Amino acid sequence: MELSGFELELRSRISGRRAVAHADVLVQAGDRFVGRDGDAVAAQALRGRFTELGLDVVDREFATVGFEEGRVELVLADGRQIEAIPPYFSPPTPDGGVEGELVFAGGGEEADYDGIDVEGRIAVIQEVGLGYSRFWLGSFVALAAQRGARAVIVIHPLPWPYRMSLEAGNADLGRRFLDDRVPVVCISGIDGGHLLHELGAGRGHARVVVESALPQVTSWNVSGLLRGSELPDQHVLVLAHRDHGIAPGANDNGSGFGTMLEVAAALAPERPRRTIEFLCTTAEEGTTPGVAAYIEARRAEGTLHGIRAAIDLDMFGVGGKLKLVEVGLWPDTDPLPHSEWLMRRLEGIADELGYDVGRMTAPWGVAESGRFLEAGVPAVWFWKPDDFYYHSTHDSTDKLDGNSLKAVGDITAIGLWQLANAAELPADA
Ligand SMILES: [Zn+2]
Repeated sequence: MELSGFELELRSRISGRRAVAHADVLVQAGDRFVGRDGDAVAAQALRGRFTELGLDVVDREFATVGFEEGRVELVLADGRQIEAIPPYFSPPTPDGGVEGELVFAGGGEEADYDGIDVEGRIAVIQEVGLGYSRFWLGSFVALAAQRGARAVIVIHPLPWPYRMSLEAGNADLGRRFLDDRVPVVCISGIDGGHLLHELGAGRGHARVVVESALPQVTSWNVSGLLRGSELPDQHVLVLAHRDHGIAPGANDNGSGFGTMLEVAAALAPERPRRTIEFLCTTAEEGTTPGVAAYIEARRAEGTLHGIRAAIDLDMFGVGGKLKLVEVGLWPDTDPLPHSEWLMRRLEGIADELGYDVGRMTAPWGVAESGRFLEAGVPAVWFWKPDDFYYHSTHDSTDKLDGNSLKAVGDITAIGLWQLANAAELPADA
């Protein structure tokens, strides 16, 4: 693939440092879990930026389940208080919390409960996979709840607590939550070591407090449109979610948001044949109900099949090698392959520019690109899988590698431009 002089010149409009600054604007908006104040502040800042760039702003409102959290405490029998984070959508404990004996239940699978009794007690389970095999806690917590556990403590190997989800991880949003749920907190591997030591020494007793609520909230998928001159009803789309699992969420997903704004600024002065749509979603966290609502809205408007390609920018500012997700796996669906022709096009651009992009399988869900694939829209996802600070309070702006944002920005800007101006676009089978 040869790149045109104009395409090569587009790179000079994209700055990794500015992309990081845009990411920090998002971080400064505060707590951005869907429906919280920072989500609305970030959406408003984005509308302002799109307007400044001369894009047409389109808001699509939707309702979903939010998550509010108050006081969270975990206190051991020796009086030591341990830093703990509930997974989003954890139910609250009764007033005063849950007090009880701790019972170690290994990896928290069915067989781990053989010969132990968690009835009326607090089950302790641990992440035994390489990182995130228990991110979707729903089915693990159900096993404990069915056996009468009053709460669950999850030990994760990271040196700080990380945010998990109490969803089951299913693609089917009707099966988001399982019926059997109890309050849950996650603690670090270091504190987990202390807890297990206390348990072994016969002092396995704790009190857990989780104040939380799951209100219905409304929010917006916000689009900025650079209208096409010849085929305005055909859209090539780039998306990034603005919500986070836990503040500050600089990599997840300030990195994608900041890069998208930089690409928007680079392309805004131009006039493509097709419309280029910059889509900022929310409620990605969890099983992506936000983008699912967006797709339903487009379906209802009769414009879904006008979307000819989608590039998902989600989490590539921290970690190892830059990847395209080739296949995504939900627990309840067949493996979801991403669009081969679209990956090849972006890889071809990366080759021309001298960037190194790999491929990978996403083993625990497909994020937002998967919703487009399920709807028959060709989609790809730029990602770096191994962010040490993922879903922790340490995911701050200073960790972001602007050079990675620059690489994705260059490839995405040229990719969008080519897609928006190609004579024809393939449709996925
Ligand atoms: Zn994300």
